[in-house]
Amino acid sequence: MADNIFDKILRGEIPCHKVYEDDHVLAFLDIGPLSRGHTLVIPKESAVTLDALSDDSAAALGRVLPRICRAVKKATGCEDFNVLQNNGALAHQAVFHVHFHIIPRPDSSQGLGVGWRSAGTFDHADGAALARAIAAAIA
Ligand code: 5GP
Repeated sequence: MADNIFDKILRGEIPCHKVYEDDHVLAFLDIGPLSRGHTLVIPKESAVTLDALSDDSAAALGRVLPRICRAVKKATGCEDFNVLQNNGALAHQAVFHVHFHIIPRPDSSQGLGVGWRSAGTFDHADGAALARAIAAAIA
């Protein structure tokens, strides 16, 4: 049985401030918010990273994410927000159960601070080969 903090929340062993629940999805407030209204949306399925998620759980998440975003906007009065989804420790994942962050961005000092690296150059020959490889892997 998976035993990280979100599995314990799903099993009701640890409390949370729940904002939404259905057969596949639970959403609740983040205990360490980057801004007021910072919400986590998780599948009930115990997958560590997004690529490991079943199509059913993925579809259920995709269906409710925009609805929960709208609700967070309405409840906080904050128009701007980021949706963040980390996979793996190097990518800043700390809890190893798939989760989407919805993070209101009320002003430049609250919410998600994004340090975007300067864009690299694009090699069209490599890009064409890479696009073919990714497309083949999807099929
Ligand atoms: P990650 O870095 O894995 O994408 O984010 C994990 C998030 O889970 C963090 O924002 C952290 O504040 C949140 N978190 C960790 N433990 C708990 C908890 O026990 N309850 C709630 N509600 N959120 C938690």
